[in-house]
Amino acid sequence: MVIIMRSDADENSIQRVMEAVEANGLSAKVMQGAAQKIIGVIGDKEKMCCLDVESLKGVEKTVNISKNYTLVSREFHPESTVIDVDGIKIGNGNVVVMAGPCAVESKEQIMASAEIIKAGGAQFLRGGAYKPRTSPYSFQGLEELGLKYLADARERTGLKIISEVTEVENVKKVAEYVDVLQVGARNMQHFRLLKELGRQNKPVLLKRGMSATIEEWLSAAEYIVNEGNNKVILCERGIRSYESYTRNTLDLSAVAAIKHLSHLPIVVDPSHGTGKWRMVKPMAYAAVAAGADGIMMEVHPDPAVALSDGQQSLTPEHYVEVMKGIKALSGFMQDSGLYIREL
Ligand code: PEP
Ligand code: MN
Repeated sequence: MVIIMRSDADENSIQRVMEAVEANGLSAKVMQGAAQKIIGVIGDKEKMCCLDVESLKGVEKTVNISKNYTLVSREFHPESTVIDVDGIKIGNGNVVVMAGPCAVESKEQIMASAEIIKAGGAQFLRGGAYKPRTSPYSFQGLEELGLKYLADARERTGLKIISEVTEVENVKKVAEYVDVLQVGARNMQHFRLLKELGRQNKPVLLKRGMSATIEEWLSAAEYIVNEGNNKVILCERGIRSYESYTRNTLDLSAVAAIKHLSHLPIVVDPSHGTGKWRMVKPMAYAAVAAGADGIMMEVHPDPAVALSDGQQSLTPEHYVEVMKGIKALSGFMQDSGLYIREL
């Protein structure tokens, strides 16, 4: 539930509302909106039915969110969230690009990738150091050494770094190296991991689980925000469907749904979303047109010899071409006023 206070509500009224919320065994978070304070009521949904605050002084109205999340909802936070990663803004139409290989394979490979990514104009270098692979016999990643190489690449190019964290025990270590912590699709409902990430002071990119509904995905984001970290970026990366031509079915309608339901920025990953490098360009363009705040895509200096996901990785030449299109389209969406801020 969200309680919207009147714009002239004083501190005392807010205090009374908070007390009523707590007396019902619930807790509250206050958010300063553009014109008025908004109180997000959090806790067991069952207890919300007994909460009657509409008659209290200063309350304009209550909005029932019959869902499992409150803090990430648009009702609680009507303005779109913009996440500042050391000067790079994500959200509200600033289309950022996170590009790089699926995995950090060697120092030479990640340095070459970083030069390519930098020259093409993306702001982030991506690369997995801890790889959650379907088969235990596939390349599992360079682990901490991979993180060190990523940090060296940042040093060399000035690119921001994003990499995946797969275990609670590694969160602090990965956070020391990266600018954004990534949660992979396979870990979207790893609730202990989400809670630990909620206690960090680093942005988190939360990929949609491969069979997760939008509500489950936003509820996973709520786990992070509820622990105190409100710097969450969502990432649509395709969902499982009966279609087998593509690796996953990229759900671009999720971009529109998120713009309506949540204030969090949303990035689209057409590489994992399709599994085919040829489809990355059209799906990246479509994502920008749909209002995505960023694109994550896999690029490899030589996809033919990639240790993972070569078939969906762009060559350096294709990457430059796709970047040109993304830049032109995002500029056009902004300048023409066609960018969809919210729905
Ligand atoms: C990745 O981005 O490296 C990755 C493993 O993707 P996903 O979690 O979406 O499968
Ligand atoms: Mn990959």
